[in-house]
Order: sequence, then structure tokens, then C-alpha cells
Amino acid sequence: MTVLRVTKYGESILRQKLKPVDYNQLAPRLPQLLKDMEETCLAVHGVGLAANQIGLDLRLAVILIPTSDEENAPLKRYVIINPEIVSKRGEKLEEEGCLSLPGLWADVKRATDVTLKYIDENGQEQVKRARGLLAKAFQHEVDHLDGKLFIDLIDPTLKPEIKKAIKKLRSSWN
Ligand SMILES: [Zn+2]
Repeated sequence: MTVLRVTKYGESILRQKLKPVDYNQLAPRLPQLLKDMEETCLAVHGVGLAANQIGLDLRLAVILIPTSDEENAPLKRYVIINPEIVSKRGEKLEEEGCLSLPGLWADVKRATDVTLKYIDENGQEQVKRARGLLAKAFQHEVDHLDGKLFIDLIDPTLKPEIKKAIKKLRSSWN
């Protein structure tokens, strides 16, 4: 099992707009890369992991989402390559966290219903409409690929508080 180090807030790659993936070029390394990303995501109990969170400049993310609300429900894996949100609907303020800001949780506003166009792990173009946690994960991961973090979406009046919390948490990050 491979558990890769997850990049943390403050590392410049998390602020980069990542490069589109040339699927055919990446294909030979893709199965191993996805396996490593999945194992890393599971090890740190994440819902999703973007390529820059393991130091790679690729528009690619892995999402592991429970198939039901039951505890220990099996996970479904989504591999989203060169994803693009084609439509958004609704709005909800909900708590969110990120593997690159471990220990920090804050309310952010997200669309409740999104349609995502992407290339899957087999190189097929997919269009998937999502609600609930999957919709949130799609938006969170696409943001990562654009160099954005969930804290960018926090109510500006809460930012001083968040800054303080990050300062405190940072010493415990590896
Ligand atoms: Zn994240």
C-alpha cells in the first residue's frame, strides 16, 4: 500500500492552475497513479484528492464517495480528468474541510446541484449530474485544479479567525 504525502496550505502547487491531461500520454501510468491516490485518500479519510495535493501538475482528481448514508457503506470511486462544471443550481451553506488544511472546518456556500463534464479513467467522456455530497466534492476538486481552496469561499468577516486557526494548526502538519 502506498500512502503519499499530502501537500499542505502554503505550498505553491496548491495555488497553481493545473495543466490539462493528455489522456493517451498519461494512460500507461494512470492505473498505478489512481491506485496510489485512492490509497492515500483512504488513509487520511478523505472524500477526494486532487493531483496537486500529491504534488502533480495535472487536471485530475479522485473522489471516493459512500454509496449510501449507512455507516461503512461501500465507496464509489470517481476519477475526473479535465473536469468542467457545465451547470450549477441551488445554494447551500455547509461545513467543509480539506486534506491540505487538516483540522480546519468552516462553512462555505456551494451549489447543491451540478453537472460535470469530464474524462473518466478509461478515457471516455462523461457528463454526470450530482447532488448532495458528490456535488460538493465535484466543486471542491475542480477548485483545487484551478488553484483554489475552500477557505477562499469563507465569509470575509470570518477570515481573521480562520487565519488564526491556521496558524495554530500548522505546527501539527507534516
Ligand atoms: Zn481539498
